[in-house]
Amino acid sequence: MPSPSRNGPGAFNREAWGQVLARLRAEHHELLRGWFGQLVPEQLNGGTLHIRAANPAQVEYLKRFCGSGFAQAVQAVTGRLIAVHFYCNNHNGQGLVEGSLVSHAFPLSFETSSLRLNPEYTFENFVTGPCNRLAHAAAIAVGDAPGQSYNPLFIHGDVGLGKTHLLQGICHTVDHGHQPANILYLTGEDFTNHFLEAVECGALHSFRDRYRHVDVLVIDDIQFLAERERSQEEFFHTFNALYQEQKQIVLASDAPPNEIPTLEERLVSRFNWGLVARIDKPCLETRMAILRKKARLRCIDLPESVVHLVASRIVSNTRELEGAITKLDLLSQQIGGVIDDALAAQAVNESPQVPPPNITIAHIIDVVARHYRVKVSDIQGKRRTKSITLPRQVCMYLARKLTTLSLGEIGGYFGGRDHTTVLHARQKVLAAAQNDKAFQEELEALAEQIKRGV
Ligand code: ADP
Ligand code: MG
Repeated sequence: MPSPSRNGPGAFNREAWGQVLARLRAEHHELLRGWFGQLVPEQLNGGTLHIRAANPAQVEYLKRFCGSGFAQAVQAVTGRLIAVHFYCNNHNGQGLVEGSLVSHAFPLSFETSSLRLNPEYTFENFVTGPCNRLAHAAAIAVGDAPGQSYNPLFIHGDVGLGKTHLLQGICHTVDHGHQPANILYLTGEDFTNHFLEAVECGALHSFRDRYRHVDVLVIDDIQFLAERERSQEEFFHTFNALYQEQKQIVLASDAPPNEIPTLEERLVSRFNWGLVARIDKPCLETRMAILRKKARLRCIDLPESVVHLVASRIVSNTRELEGAITKLDLLSQQIGGVIDDALAAQAVNESPQVPPPNITIAHIIDVVARHYRVKVSDIQGKRRTKSITLPRQVCMYLARKLTTLSLGEIGGYFGGRDHTTVLHARQKVLAAAQNDKAFQEELEALAEQIKRGV
């Protein structure tokens, strides 16, 4: 049992503790809580640092989410392989409430990896609005009764709009539920890598055993799966095995199933069997509520005027709202702790995002036609000569990027072409821009010109 004396032999050096907290702040900002300053590193004993918290709730939080973060920070600061142990005195001041010993000195392979979730990504911390209400309600239903309501649940939306948050919310809920459940949460890329690893090591049997015997399979960024034919094939069988057993499958992607390039038709059709829910960009009220929520979680005091200012400037990506809070926090620490409108203006002015004007497809076609010196009627017509095809594809790409129109709607403006043509055009432009910096800059300049409305 750790000694209560901070000055006894083996007590952890105060300066080193300061460095541990600074490291955590830098590397695991999302884990930090206001009360971390009150944690006491009581004793370093036999390769274990005993850290005292104020109450069992704090021990529980530390134990569940912070073990590896603390262990890594302590190991980095001391240069020694040290484990951490969290505990607190019980309410009568007698006895101890124990946390677990955690040492994450070795990487975990897929055979043994446990759920690695962000503790903040709970339903409680998710703000709902018109943009995400359906996806949120479905996620709650799935978390409460896996395998019984929507199967599979497929959530899609642009980057930074909360897909991962909702997926992990489901995992947290199931993990805390009354029924013990075997949950697997990973990305499409992980699935592909694990599969290839299993093929290489001749471990397909244990791979299948692992993936086909879970109660809840949650795969984030499933679009990566479509890049490899064999992993799609494998996932198809995984899906069938789980579905037949009424096990829950949850998937997220940056596009709906039928717009994921190279995703096999049989998977597209299966992904549509349950519920497909889209998350849209949040409106001003939702962005303001998210900012308040995130600031509260980080114990940062944001005046309402600052909330309004930041939410009005950062419009499309929630992750950037969060980045603005972090920046404000850092700036305010540099100047002594006050967050006001001037500081907020400074923080968001450096951010590249400004509210986009109302962009119409007619304006996009007009700008692109002028740029390539072709006729608007040719872009919208049927001719397939190269001099027309490129501007047409650029228009489709920009329409997808700068408007909220669906692929099918965009196709409609170009002589009634269907969504696969628009998808193909977008892919072609993206691929060309990747290999050609000048073309990439040309696209950016066109987008800027369209946003300026000229
Ligand atoms: P995606 O997976 O769609 O790219 P994430 O789930 O990673 O997006 O979300 C990016 C950040 O924005 C996360 O910190 C997440 O907590 C936050 N976020 C997004 N939407 C919401 C929301 N509705 N309420 C609270 N936080 C949100
Ligand atoms: Mg994500």
